[in-house]
Amino acid sequence: VYVKSFEVIEKPNVHYSDIGGLNEQINEIREVIELPLKNPELFKEIGIDPPKGVLLYGPPGTGKTLLAKAVATESNATFIQVVASEFAQKFVGEGARIVREVFELARRKAPSIVFIDEIDAIGAKRVDMGTSGEREIQRTLMQLLAEIDGFKPLDNVKIIAATNRLDILDPALLRPGRFDRLIEVPLPNFEGRKEIFRIYLQKMKTDGDIRYDILASMTEGFSGAEIKNVCTEAGYIAIRNGRKYVNMTDLITAIEKIKAKNNKAKNSDR
Ligand code: ATP
Repeated sequence: VYVKSFEVIEKPNVHYSDIGGLNEQINEIREVIELPLKNPELFKEIGIDPPKGVLLYGPPGTGKTLLAKAVATESNATFIQVVASEFAQKFVGEGARIVREVFELARRKAPSIVFIDEIDAIGAKRVDMGTSGEREIQRTLMQLLAEIDGFKPLDNVKIIAATNRLDILDPALLRPGRFDRLIEVPLPNFEGRKEIFRIYLQKMKTDGDIRYDILASMTEGFSGAEIKNVCTEAGYIAIRNGRKYVNMTDLITAIEKIKAKNNKAKNSDR
């Protein structure tokens, strides 16, 4: 079977308004990615180099992919997504070639944003280079570094990478001129959780009596992805009950259900 090694979205359709609770992160990524793509002359004029690459780090499901897609949408850039963990599993012996192809395509489709998800899969510090698999991953990383070093800060290709494991990354990736801007994408706080509930519930039919403060206070520690799941689950509960709209009871039941599931997963980890 033919497996796609990367995905190209010519016109992504995610907007900053689809993201809850990450205003600071949106402002920062706009300044370092959107502004230089749209107004390179500002940077030339004053004589500073914007970063070529930005690294988003934080727990799973907090909106890193969403942020990268939104900045591509708002910069009118082609979005090219690569999932690094798939290199190691599906494309043995082809990693370096795929990296080369991705950047060729990015230059051809510029302005563009190359998004490398789970970069730790190819960019972790290596202790032991004994096996051929390890050496292959190392070659893939070397090719990636060569591509990043090969273009100029004001070229219209930008790289955004994401990881849940900043602690294990090879420092070579973080050197000046590579991923030298780090943006933390944390779990949402109270206000953030309220915003994320609003984003999803406003697209749904409700009885009009939603208490966002209660929902937010019941979901401490939830990621944006989990809050989205709560809303979807509440929709199913309403359907099962023969209703055409969601109410607070459905949402609270859904929260309890997802909490129970998370607890079970935690216990089986031990
Ligand atoms: P991972 O590290 O697992 O790749 P991620 O940080 O890239 O996760 P996304 O893929 O952006 O997370 O989010 C997963 C899902 O959760 C998406 O469908 C997105 O719609 C939703 N989501 C996550 N965070 C937010 C947020 N802050 N606001 C709105 N939706 C969110």
